[in-house]
Amino acid sequence: MKTQAELSALLFELDSRGYKAYKQIKGEYDFEEFTLIIDYVQGDPFAAPTQCSAIITQAIAKFPEELYSTLSREIALRDYLSRQFAQVAREFSGFRGTGKSGLIQGIEPVQEVLERTSVFIDDQDIEVRFWVGLPAKGRSILGRQAEEMICYDLPQIIKKALFYASLDPELIKKHVETVEDAEWLRSELEKRGLVSFIANGSILPRCSGIDPRPLTENVVPFQAPAGLEVSFDCPNHGKITGMGFSKGITLIVGGGYHGKSTLLKAVELGVYNHVPGDGREWVITDANAVKVRSEDGRSIASVDISPFINHLPQGQSTQRFCSNNASGSTSQATNIIEALEVGATALLMDEDTSATNFMIRDRRMQQLIHKDKEPITPFVDKVQQLYKDHGVSTILVMGGSGDYFDVAGTVIAMENFQPHDVTAEAQKIAKKHKNQRLLEGGELFGDVTPRVPDAESIDASRGKRSVTIKVRDTDALGFGTEDIDLGGVEQLVETAQIRAIALGMLYGKEKYGDQNLSLGEMLTKIMDEIEAEGLDILSEYPQADLAYFRRFELVAAINRLRTLKIKEA
Ligand code: ADP
Ligand code: MG
Repeated sequence: MKTQAELSALLFELDSRGYKAYKQIKGEYDFEEFTLIIDYVQGDPFAAPTQCSAIITQAIAKFPEELYSTLSREIALRDYLSRQFAQVAREFSGFRGTGKSGLIQGIEPVQEVLERTSVFIDDQDIEVRFWVGLPAKGRSILGRQAEEMICYDLPQIIKKALFYASLDPELIKKHVETVEDAEWLRSELEKRGLVSFIANGSILPRCSGIDPRPLTENVVPFQAPAGLEVSFDCPNHGKITGMGFSKGITLIVGGGYHGKSTLLKAVELGVYNHVPGDGREWVITDANAVKVRSEDGRSIASVDISPFINHLPQGQSTQRFCSNNASGSTSQATNIIEALEVGATALLMDEDTSATNFMIRDRRMQQLIHKDKEPITPFVDKVQQLYKDHGVSTILVMGGSGDYFDVAGTVIAMENFQPHDVTAEAQKIAKKHKNQRLLEGGELFGDVTPRVPDAESIDASRGKRSVTIKVRDTDALGFGTEDIDLGGVEQLVETAQIRAIALGMLYGKEKYGDQNLSLGEMLTKIMDEIEAEGLDILSEYPQADLAYFRRFELVAAINRLRTLKIKEA
């Protein structure tokens, strides 16, 4: 291994040479307090920056073992250190020339605590992966600046962000313990017959539609209604009290602008753990809860939507329904069936993003448009069967129709951002004003048919390149020549998840594509492998920017690939 002094000398030597000469610095260097590995060197100052990693031994970093002794603690500590590194690196980063010159960057986590490939820790050492924008003026190397960044700034960043002695032990402890408690709470939900839990005092609204930090002004903290209160005795935090959402069907009603969607959004993201101070760190949802919405325009590959939709015009099949431009109702039906196909145990829906004709069909309309002229069986006639036949709960925001009073086990009214238990009242009203609707749902929900994908149809090649993946935000994934629209997949929070999902699609194709597995079987294998061996199995080279995703989001990307083909049963 070469030394820091040798790298220093090399960088000086490269000064004012053409940018490509930077390629020579690839390799491993022994710095005093860590080992620097330059994995991949960028080709020009505007290209994706140079990827590096640093390994610091525990003899120097000195993290107490109890901070990473369990899986949830380890993930939390890695998350904490990723945040530290990103923040300190940002302070040191400066503009040092053309393009990305001067950049030192770690992955920038959002409010969720996720497993990522940015930091690893065990009792031997800590590994951090990050990017450096090697400095240049035009295309000529600024060697002196590069030397300053790598040999002077970087050691300081590492010391400030990744040595236990430089950090606030109380904050780290809180981070780790909060995540451990959240994970524990999630594991308790099932035993208590709950789908979700929101602690009293939680702050649900966000700063703005584009800023996920907690709202700070004029916030009404969450307070559970008396009848729905539950308590837990958490391992670290002790007693926590809040509202439990029981399994079955929960209806959220209330006037416009009273906080219904905000409540549901918090529940949706409760499948992840949150950083202390987020306000939603004690909002805990069943890890298999899936938000579904209508998504007109999406493509659909041979999905059996017949539980909801039958007898389409022109005799189109709804048992193998295909579309490259789905309607509101067919897309929502598809989103539900696809979630069930891979094991969703709860559905989350909001009237704001639902197709009205999928959700309700009242008595008057039933009389005007007779059942044999209406392909859709509305969700209100299927929601109970979904729970009875498949054990799948629903939490539904619906302020615009009382038709769901008949089927809901719990009705919560949001009033001035506070929940009230109005179940008894809603049931009384339902009895008094009998609904004259005809039930259209039949006896059973219907079968959910597994699908076997044609692996060849999952293709990320573009031109001469066998794999092209482009990730800009959480709403879209460039996959070969295709653009996968993920705007309707609302439980994605970080771009690093999208990148990992793209690699997950390719991994599944390569490894299991020829085995005739259903999507569900394939996902189980992929997710089990990731759980056992980590996200690194998805990539050929160590990558700094992969983050944990659920099976539901991986399959959502596959399902939205417009080239996807399903094999004949
Ligand atoms: P609804 O779905 O009932 O129409 P929203 O959930 O969209 O209402 O909330 C309306 C507005 O109120 C949003 O701007 C949201 O940020 C804000 N809000 C929601 N909950 C709270 C709260 N607990 N305290 C303060 N403001 C809130
Ligand atoms: Mg709303």
